[in-house]
Amino acid sequence: MQTIKSLGILGGTFDPIHYGHMVAAECVRDAFHLDRIIFVPAAWPPHKDPEGVLDSRHRFNMVELAVGDSPNFEVSSMELDRQGLSYTVETVASCQQLYPAAEIYFILGTDALLLINTWKELERLSKLCHFILVTRPGYELNRNDQRFREIPDYLWEKTLILPIPGLYISSSEIRQRVTEGKTIKYLVPEMVEKYIVENNLYQDEEGIHV
Ligand code: ATP
Ligand code: MG
Repeated sequence: MQTIKSLGILGGTFDPIHYGHMVAAECVRDAFHLDRIIFVPAAWPPHKDPEGVLDSRHRFNMVELAVGDSPNFEVSSMELDRQGLSYTVETVASCQQLYPAAEIYFILGTDALLLINTWKELERLSKLCHFILVTRPGYELNRNDQRFREIPDYLWEKTLILPIPGLYISSSEIRQRVTEGKTIKYLVPEMVEKYIVENNLYQDEEGIHV
């Protein structure tokens, strides 16, 4: 068995997973020569209305389909198994236990960074992992933004910035497009598109929550 020495974690709601997530994961893997990327769907994302989020079983299944048999990608149900609110600090601590030899890199887009000050035990988290900040169209970092200024120095010290090809795709937009009967081909992996159709996901307005 391969010893994992470097591990990337991409947390998210994945409601549903799309090519923006996949490109972010792949570019980070490649740029930092990571042994593996784990996609971790959140059970109950602290920043979202749980009522509006699709059943975790479907979200997990879609990530599993997207990851397919890629040797470098994996999906973990650890946050779903834990239930309750999903905190990154607990996820990273669990990964550290599972892969004691690994240096951990937590991947996040610029929109997620702006919320990071609200995360649980941020200082402890910053001791457990590095952060890789990937660029995201529509969320350019504005140094005058108060939320940006409040990001503590100890976090910047652990953060690497990786510009990636910009894909102006969000799960919110995918849901909206499905509800409106528009195509999502080439925005999500083909197997995910098929899964959405077969399970009649995002058909009604209730599926839309931005
Ligand atoms: P929603 O519209 O429901 O908020 P989302 O598209 O933002 O969904 P999330 O599951 O919330 O997807 O995002 C998980 C992580 O992936 C976050 O760190 C986010 O910044 C990052 N991410 C999502 N889409 C992109 C993208 N197109 N480019 C770069 N990073 C992205
Ligand atoms: Mg989001």
